[in-house]
Amino acid sequence: MNVLITGGAGFIGSHLCKLLTERGDKVICLDNLITGFRKNIENLIGTDNFTFIEHDISQSFHLDEDIDWVYHFASLASPKHYLNYPIKTLKSGLLGTHNCLGIAKDKKAKFILASTSEVYGDPTVHPQPEEYWGNVSSIGPRSCYDESKRGAESLTYAYLRQHQVDVRVARIFNTYGPNMHPDDGRVVSNFITQSLAEKDLTIYGDGSQTRSFCYIDDLVKGLLKLTEIDYHQPVNLGNPAEFTIKELADLVLKETQSGSKIKNLPLPEDDPKRRRPDITKAKELLSWQPTVPLEKGLEKTIDYFRKVIRGKD
Ligand code: UDP
Repeated sequence: MNVLITGGAGFIGSHLCKLLTERGDKVICLDNLITGFRKNIENLIGTDNFTFIEHDISQSFHLDEDIDWVYHFASLASPKHYLNYPIKTLKSGLLGTHNCLGIAKDKKAKFILASTSEVYGDPTVHPQPEEYWGNVSSIGPRSCYDESKRGAESLTYAYLRQHQVDVRVARIFNTYGPNMHPDDGRVVSNFITQSLAEKDLTIYGDGSQTRSFCYIDDLVKGLLKLTEIDYHQPVNLGNPAEFTIKELADLVLKETQSGSKIKNLPLPEDDPKRRRPDITKAKELLSWQPTVPLEKGLEKTIDYFRKVIRGKD
């Protein structure tokens, strides 16, 4: 298969590039390297089945080669980044998705969108099934991400209806693992890097808010399964095991054997209070469910961050 993947040097994108090239696909990886890192794809650059192009997908892009799939994974996905770059976030979600769908239509390729649990906003339904329409502010600080992904989904279904582009939409819940950037600002990377440096762990609010964390290997297996079936509606991909942020902090402290203390900081505006995927659909359609428990996934992620930090010294 010939595959175009945007955001291929990013966290999830780089794992996809690895898996796809390993199974023999020819991958063209696009990334503007704003939050992606060349290091994530270093081992692939120069190999036969892999081409890296530094490009911002919110700008138009012409491809000479025929392709079978477009994976649109370019996005500023961490609150720290999308709050700093709201316009870029909107552009990659809206213009980037439009450009990718245009390429898919032109090449008669299939298209998969990396959507997000943020389309549910601060949910009033728990756990969140795909049928839930969400509780999202269109003007708040997170709206640049949430609304651009909702717009991206809308564009995706417009191309399905109007141009019969063969689309898939994965609603990805909090994911963690190797290739996350240490300065990414997300809770797992923050807590691990803070613990390893014996610095205070920054809990926003009282730590009673919940998230459900999926290990990257589980997630990418689900994503590939979604490309293998003929189903066009959104599918939640995430780990339904739900933890408070305080529980996560305690687990990270235990696993790193750190003497760090906890420091409570103000809760960001519009921070969702509870989040947990209903993965009934993924179980039924994909015969998929996560298998890596948080403790195990954290161990591997901690090992990864130890190496990254050592490399920095
Ligand atoms: N969070 C925290 N401390 C941090 C980073 C994040 O307490 O150093 C909280 C954040 O307020 C949110 C949760 O952890 O409630 C998950 O945040 P993250 O940025 O990882 O992803 P989100 O699920 O909000 O997109």
